[in-house]
Amino acid sequence: MPSASLVPENDSTTLFTGSGMQPMIPFLLGAKHPQGVRLADSQKSFRSQDIDEVGDNRHTTFFEMLGNWSLGDEKNGGYFKKEQIEWMLQFLTGELGLDANRLYFTVFRGSPEINIPRDEESALIWQELLQAKGISAKIIDFAERDGMGQGRIFYYDQTKNWWSRAGLPSQMPVGEPGGPDTEMFWDFGAGLKLHENSEFKSQPCHVNCDCGRFLEIGNNVFMQYQKTEKGFEPLAQKNVDFGGGLERIAAAVNDQPDIFKIDLIAPLIRVLEQKSGKTYGGADARAFRIIADHIRAAVFLVSDGVTPTNKDRGYVLRRLLRRAMVYAQLLGASGDWMQRTVEEVMKIYSQAYPELQTQKQIIEQTILDEQKKFGQTLERGLREFDKFQTVSGTDAFNLFQSFGIPWEITQELAEKKGVKINRQEFETEFKKHQDLSRTASAGTFKGGLADHSEKVVRLHTATHLLQAALLKVLGNHVQQRGSNITAERTRFDFPNPQKMTPEQIKSVEDLVNGWISQGLEVKKESMPLEKARELGAIGLFGEKYSDVVSVYTIMAKDGSAVSREFCGGPHVQNTAEIGKFKISKEEAVSAGVRRIKATIEP
Ligand SMILES: [Zn+2]
Ligand SMILES: [Zn+2]
Repeated sequence: MPSASLVPENDSTTLFTGSGMQPMIPFLLGAKHPQGVRLADSQKSFRSQDIDEVGDNRHTTFFEMLGNWSLGDEKNGGYFKKEQIEWMLQFLTGELGLDANRLYFTVFRGSPEINIPRDEESALIWQELLQAKGISAKIIDFAERDGMGQGRIFYYDQTKNWWSRAGLPSQMPVGEPGGPDTEMFWDFGAGLKLHENSEFKSQPCHVNCDCGRFLEIGNNVFMQYQKTEKGFEPLAQKNVDFGGGLERIAAAVNDQPDIFKIDLIAPLIRVLEQKSGKTYGGADARAFRIIADHIRAAVFLVSDGVTPTNKDRGYVLRRLLRRAMVYAQLLGASGDWMQRTVEEVMKIYSQAYPELQTQKQIIEQTILDEQKKFGQTLERGLREFDKFQTVSGTDAFNLFQSFGIPWEITQELAEKKGVKINRQEFETEFKKHQDLSRTASAGTFKGGLADHSEKVVRLHTATHLLQAALLKVLGNHVQQRGSNITAERTRFDFPNPQKMTPEQIKSVEDLVNGWISQGLEVKKESMPLEKARELGAIGLFGEKYSDVVSVYTIMAKDGSAVSREFCGGPHVQNTAEIGKFKISKEEAVSAGVRRIKATIEP
């Protein structure tokens, strides 16, 4: 299967695709996958919650997750534990050439509270396969308490070896699927003394220890249970979901715990070395890693349509770029370091992801625009910071407010100066400001609508027609990037590589006014999400997956749909109520994103 977008399609529960499993949920729950029961992929993934962890030798925000899937067990043409574990060992030791003596495995301990037994089946399959290779494969319980005791296979509880979207079994909602997993670890060896030199040195080392000696390189989830009102019951369709980070697997193959040295990232580090005159390693390693990770992630986010803004996905992207810039400044990288790093990312990935090449211009322009915007402010902010003898929480807030320097960066800079900042004071200032701006904007937004006045409702239905017309005139790449409706006008943002021509604008207006004058019915229906998707409904929607969604359809006279959108409403009942539609402005919001403002006359 090709990789899904980093921006989840019609899933408002999460901002980004963070694992290979996310786009597969409907199929794990029983929907038929068009490509069959046995599948494999490499899924682009981004985890914004890991931004602050980047800087050590193994965390990244962006990564590729290799996956293999069985949607249903033997009965349905799929496979389950025995095949999966056998193939995995073959993949690791045969295809990748990893030494089996340095691989370790974990299995679910079981839990009486939720009445799920220990996964002895998986433990015994590993044991038998390893013993057949002449490798000692003792099964050990409680290594986290007692140490590894020459074991090879270890039982852990649900915090380590249970998988569901919601996390622990107790956090899963009724209806949610989940199951035990078995994970595989690479041992970088006792010789590096990673444990002895870590903060965990007083505790016994074990495969799930955070010292870095053992690296998790893959996770086989056996989706075999579903939570019900009465507790856990076997799932009608048993599934296998394997996920393994490509970067980590490569680090194991290199037998090098620093994943920033793999071929997918090392060239970025080299560009930064050239541009800063510094050598990767020591105290500077952290800055190199943050910049390389953040720029790599930014390129992929922009290629999936994210642009830097002040909220949601756009904010995360902005934070990545600004953070990279701050660290570049600290590292002393100068000149065209950003452009060169961006180009290098594209060079590394263009073969696997040709869209990076086709969107080269938009990606470069978006990222370099943000650099231009923030660059001067940043320099002034850093000069301001240098003037401080001590740094108060209010100073930190002012740096954030006036120069866009985030708290964590001010904190890091202060640490270098050897001073502490009062976090409480920063937050008090922050909250004061937030309350002020909230009061100022109260009432201007409600799901993009200013209010439910009659004019706003008419403009709302007109906006649905506008999107339908844009799809017809410009093509299928049009989708809503943002919308805001007041009593004066509607505003609609969408991706389009060029400015619209006067002819295109005229065609869109004519289409919309045509539909208005035909007096078409606007129909509201509630239906399961799957059904809505089948019908081809478009748009953003605020309801969770598998919930019932509300869909507004504007019906043509021949019974086909002019427009069908996920939407909470409200709308007029007939397009004749809208009035005359006119586009008042068409302009750029950012590279590749256009904005239309339109009005209606009575
Ligand atoms: Zn350890
Ligand atoms: Zn709507």
